[in-house]
Amino acid sequence: MNVLDTLARPVRDLRISVTDRCNFRCSYCMPKSVFGRDYAFLPRAELLTFEEIDRVARAFARAGATKLRLTGGEPLLRRGIEDLVAMLAEIERIDLTLTTNAALLADRAEALKSAGLDRLNVSLDSLNDRTFRSMNDVDFPVDRVLEGIGAATAVGFAPIKINMVVKRGVNDGDVVEMAQRFRGSGHIVRFIEFMDVGTTNGWRLDDVVPAREIVELISAAHPLEPIDPAYRGEVAQRWRYQDGSGEVGVISSVTQPFCGDCTRARVSADGKIFTCLFSATGHDIRSLLREGADDEALDMALTSIWQKRNDQYSELRSAATSSTAKVEMSYIGG
Ligand code: SF4
Repeated sequence: MNVLDTLARPVRDLRISVTDRCNFRCSYCMPKSVFGRDYAFLPRAELLTFEEIDRVARAFARAGATKLRLTGGEPLLRRGIEDLVAMLAEIERIDLTLTTNAALLADRAEALKSAGLDRLNVSLDSLNDRTFRSMNDVDFPVDRVLEGIGAATAVGFAPIKINMVVKRGVNDGDVVEMAQRFRGSGHIVRFIEFMDVGTTNGWRLDDVVPAREIVELISAAHPLEPIDPAYRGEVAQRWRYQDGSGEVGVISSVTQPFCGDCTRARVSADGKIFTCLFSATGHDIRSLLREGADDEALDMALTSIWQKRNDQYSELRSAATSSTAKVEMSYIGG
C-alpha cells in the first residue's frame, strides 16, 4: 500500500516516542523552568506497551513506511527498550534507528546492536564542556557522551549521525570544532537550525543561525561541495568535504523549509499520531488498540488520518504562527 496525503506525500518515516521523560533539560526542547521536579510526566499505564507499539509500527509499514525511529524524551530511559528493538527488528524492509543523548549509551550500545538496531543518531550540542553542561542544564559532561559514541562505534554502528542544534550566541562558535572533531571519522555531523518547536523554548528568529551561514563557516576551514539527496524526504541537506574526508548535513527548517517532501509521521508515547512536528493536536490511536481493533480497522484509521494531512508549517511560518499552540518536541520526539 502507498498511502498519500493531500500534497501527494507518502508516509515513509515513522518516529515513535517511547517516553516523554529525559535525563537532560536542554533549553531548546525541555527547559527546566517548565519541566521541573513537579512536572507531571505520563504515568506508565498511559504509555503504549511494546506490543501496542509493534502493532502501530506494523500498520505504518503496511501503509508504506520504510524507516522507523525510536525517540523520546530519551528512549534509553524506557525500561527494556532492547526488547522492543528486537520485536521491531522483525518487521521486514524497515530501517530501524534510534536517537539518543548518549548519556546511557556506553553501557547499552552492544545490547542495542545485538537486538537488531540498524543505526544511531546522537544529540551533541558542543564539544566545549562548559557550554555543553549549560545547554543540557543538568551539568552532564561531554566526555561521557563521547564515550558513548566510542562504544557504539566499537560495536559497529557507522555512520553515526551527530545532531547539533546551533543557537546564536550560545554554541555557534563551536560549529567548526564539531565539524573538525568528526571529519575523517566516518560519522556525520548534522547541524540543525534552532526551531520554534512547542511553546516553551523562548524561540526568537534572531537566535537562528541559517544553514547557509553554517556551511560557509565550515567551508572556510574545510571546503565543502553539495551532494544530491539520496531519496525524497531526506531531512538534511548533504555536503561533502572536497578532500574526500567525509560529509556533513544541515537541517534548515526555518530558512529553507522542506515541507513539500515531508514524509514523516510521529507517534507520542501515549499513542497519538501527529502529522507534523509543529502540530497542536494528535489523533488518538491507543483507544482503538485497547478496544480490540483488528489490523484492518487500524489500517483504515491510519489511512484516513494520513490522507487528510495537509501540514506545511515551516513553509507557512510567520511571526504569528511561531507563538501558536504546538505540541512539545519532548513529547513526540524530533
Ligand atoms: S514543518 Fe511539519 S510538514 Fe513541514 S517538514 Fe516539518 S514536520 Fe514536515
